[in-house]
Parts: sequence; structure tokens; C-alpha cells
Amino acid sequence: MITAIAGGVGGSRMLRALASVLPAERITAVVNTGDDIVLHGLHVSPDVDTVVYTLGGAANPGTGWGRVGETWEAMGELRALSAGRLAWFNLGDRDLGTHLYRTSRLAEGAALSEVTAEIARRWGVGVTVLPMSDDRVETRVTLAGGREIGFQEYFVGLRHEVGVESVRFAGVEAARPAPGVLDALGGSELVVVCPSNPVVSIAPVLAVPGVGDTVARRRERVVAVSPIVAGAALKGPADRLLSELGHEVSVAGVARMWAPWVGTLVVDVADADLAAEVESAGVRCVVTPTVMSGPAESVALARAVLDAGGLSWS
Ligand code: GDP
Ligand code: CA
Repeated sequence: MITAIAGGVGGSRMLRALASVLPAERITAVVNTGDDIVLHGLHVSPDVDTVVYTLGGAANPGTGWGRVGETWEAMGELRALSAGRLAWFNLGDRDLGTHLYRTSRLAEGAALSEVTAEIARRWGVGVTVLPMSDDRVETRVTLAGGREIGFQEYFVGLRHEVGVESVRFAGVEAARPAPGVLDALGGSELVVVCPSNPVVSIAPVLAVPGVGDTVARRRERVVAVSPIVAGAALKGPADRLLSELGHEVSVAGVARMWAPWVGTLVVDVADADLAAEVESAGVRCVVTPTVMSGPAESVALARAVLDAGGLSWS
């Protein structure tokens, strides 16, 4: 058994790669739900959906999120009716079916983890996909100047083109890990930290009470892949958020931030010159190509991660 901690696009790419070299049944994913948002009365779980769609072969390969072959009729109507006001977060027609289903099942009293398992089953996903918590945790962003907004307003509404002062995970103190999360993290041969946004994808998972401690106890069995390559994020605001929150935007900065609970950091060949600095943070450093630009590169990275953890693969 291995357990991977994941956000959306980087997380799902790593999971797909791992599932191509290990039987999917041996993999559990613990996925960030701090990005979740209720829109038009619908419960949307962007990172969980990206993981399930990607593992189910249903993701849009162009964007890495949303559905392949998607249509946008409902959004078009909403845009026309509201003069654009209510259509700031794109939900495709097929994707809407998922949110309708999730919302209905939650209203019937099902837990988010149960509904997630049902949706994963519909896509034939063999990986066990667990939301980090069944309880509501909401990532909130305080902009430079002091105004606090929800994560999606920052990420999608403002296209993350604004300065950030701080980030918090509202509700996390009272949240419990979803059933199976602590057992998976505590009992796996290996914990893989996917190359996901450290601030808004990985940190919320670790902040769920019990999760951080459980992972830290397994530190020597934790292998992380740096989402920072050559001093920048491949995509998205991870680099800016790190620097705004006072971290160095480099693999050495990632190593220092994660050193209390990560034993090994896999960094890109572009960062080979920083390997010694990673090691001086007390984190073992493995250097290999980490950009999952295609299937071959992704599989090679998955093998390198398993090698780093001393696991055999096929
Ligand atoms: P989101 O939830 O969709 O924003 O995605 P994640 O949080 O899972 O991942 C975003 C981060 O993943 C960004 O910082 C990217 O730099 C990083 N990332 C995405 N693809 C790759 C990859 O192939 N290799 C590495 N090393 N990082 C990646
Ligand atoms: Ca996300």
C-alpha cells in the first residue's frame, strides 16, 4: 500500500503515473478539499473531481481539469441571464451532473467520502480516493490590504493576479480526517507527497487534526516531489504564494518548509545544484527529471519516486 497526498492538476498527474506502475488497488489518495465551494447551491470539489476524472480517463487533457468533450450550454444560459455576474466559475454540462449528484447525496445525509467513492466507482477508478475530511474546511485568502476572500474568488475570480498577505483554513480545527485517512497514512509502506501547491493544496491536508502528526511520525517513509522547478511553479500561483508567505521559492525553500515531515525530496535535474542545500535542511535529495510532460516522463518519475522509497514497481 502507498498513500499519496494530492491537490488537483499536479496531484492527479502524479497519481495517474503511480497507477501505471503499481496496481491501482495498492494506492490511496488523500485529496485536498479546502478548494471546495458551494456555487448555485451545488457542492463543487475541484481537486477531488480533477483526481477522479484524470484517473478515470475523463479529464480534459488540454486543461488537466474538467471533462473531456465538455459542452457549456448551462453556463451560456447563466451568463446571459446574469450579464456574466453569476458565471465567473465555469462548470461544464457534464461536470454539472457530478455536482448535482454530490449535492443530492450530501442532502440525503451521505458523507463526502461516501459520495466520492460512488463517483470514483462510476469512472472505474481503482485507486481509493479519499477527501481529506468529510467536514467543511474552507481555504480563505487575505489579500494585501486586508480583505479576506474565498480561495476560488482569488484563484478563478481574480485569476490570482493579486498580492496575498495570509492564508487560513477555516473550520480545520474542528475537522476530523475522513474515514480511512489516518489508517492509510499511518499504515502505508510509503507516503508520497505529489507535486501540488504547497500552500493551498498540501498544507490544508496536513492541517487536518491528526494528519500532520501521523505523517511526521512516518517521516522516513515520506517521499515528496517538488512542485517548484528551477525557482518557479510550472503553472499557477504556488511560487508567488510561497514568496508572499515568506518562503524561499526554490527546492531548498520547499525542503526547509517540509523538513519536519518529509524524509526525501525529489527535485528536478534543473535544480541539481541545490541538492546539497536540500540535504543540509536534513532532507535526503533525489535528482531526476520531474516534469510530467508526457506519459513516458510521468512513468519515469513514478518509478523514481518508488525507487526513492525503496519499493519495487513494474
Ligand atoms: P491545482 O489544485 O489544480 O492547482 O493543482 P496542484 O496543487 O495539484 O498542483 C499545482 C502545482 O503542481 C504547481 O505548483 C505546479 O508547478 C506543480 N506541477 C504540476 N505539474 C507538475 C509536474 O509535472 N511536475 C512537477 N514537478 N510539478 C508539477
Ligand atoms: Ca486545487
